[in-house]
Amino acid sequence: MQSEIKVDLHCHSFYSDGTTSPESLLARALTNQITYLAITDHDCMAAFGEARPDAGDVTIIAGVEISCDWLGQEIHVVGLFVDRHNIELQTLLKNQQRSRRLRVEGMSEKLNSLGSPGLMDYLKSLPAIALTRSHVADFLVDKLICKTRKSAFKTHLGKRGMLYVAPQWASLEEAVGAITNAGGFSVLAHPSRYSLKNKKLNALASSFKAAGGTALEGSYPSIDPKTMNRLETLACEHSLMLSAGSDFHDPASHWTELGKFPKLDSSARAMALWHHPLWQQKVESGSTV
Ligand code: AMP
Ligand code: MN
Ligand code: MN
Ligand code: MN
Repeated sequence: MQSEIKVDLHCHSFYSDGTTSPESLLARALTNQITYLAITDHDCMAAFGEARPDAGDVTIIAGVEISCDWLGQEIHVVGLFVDRHNIELQTLLKNQQRSRRLRVEGMSEKLNSLGSPGLMDYLKSLPAIALTRSHVADFLVDKLICKTRKSAFKTHLGKRGMLYVAPQWASLEEAVGAITNAGGFSVLAHPSRYSLKNKKLNALASSFKAAGGTALEGSYPSIDPKTMNRLETLACEHSLMLSAGSDFHDPASHWTELGKFPKLDSSARAMALWHHPLWQQKVESGSTV
C-alpha cells in the first residue's frame, strides 16, 4: 500500500526572514514525516547552495517566494522546482534583493534622523540574503523601540508606519515568466491574505493564469473551511491546481509547524499540484537542490 503523501510547499530559512537553517528545516521535515518539502525564501535561493545527500525520506524542492506588483497590489508568487542557475531568474532575484537593500537603507536613514542608528550594522550580522521588514522589526524590538514584532509593523513598518518605504517589486507577469523560464511551477501564495474582494480576486486569478501560473495555495495555517471552499472554486474556475504550505518561519512560534495546515480535501474539484503529470518527472530530474 502506498503511504500517504504529506507535503509542505512553503517555508522560510534564515536566508530570508526565517530563523533556522535549511538543515534544521530538513530535520524538522523528517521528524514530521513530510514527503515533499519546498524551501521558499523571499526573493532568494541561497538555501540551495550546498549538497545535501542525507535528505532521508524527504524530497527537497528548490523553491522561492517572489514579492511582486499587480496593479499596485503586492502579491506573492511561489516558484517550485526552479533552476537557481537560470540567468533570467537570477537577474530578477538580484534586482529584488537590491530593492530590498534600498528599502532598508531608506528605513535606516529615517531611524538615524530619529536618533536610533545601527540598523545596517545589525543587518550585516545576519545570514539573511533577502532583507525584510521582519528583520527591521527584530531590530526595533531589540532596541526597545517597539514591544513586539506585531506592534512594530503597526507603528513603524506598515503602510502608515513612520519608517515605511514603498518597495519596488517586479510585476506579476515578470515573476511568473521568470519562474516558467527556470522550469518551475508558479503558485499564487495565500490568496485570502490580500484582503481582496471576490471580483478583484477573480481578476487576480485570471491575470495569474494568463501569465502562466499553475496553482494557487488552497490551504495554509488558520484558513477556515469556507475560505478553503472559496479558493477551491476559484482554482476550478481558472483551471488552476491546488498547492498547500505552512509558511513556517520560526520554531519559537508554537502555533506554526512544518506540515501543519488543514488537509486539502481529496475529493476537491481542483487537483493537488503533487498529482500534476510532470511532478514525478521533476522530482526525479535531480534539479531539486
Ligand atoms: P517584506 O517582504 O520585507 O515586506 O516583509 C514582510 C514579512 O514580514 C512577511 O513575509 C511576514 O513574514 C512578516 N510580516 C508581515 N506583516 C506582519 C505583521 N503584521 N506582523 C508580523 N510579521 C509580519
Ligand atoms: Mn516572511
Ligand atoms: Mn507571503
Ligand atoms: Mn512566505
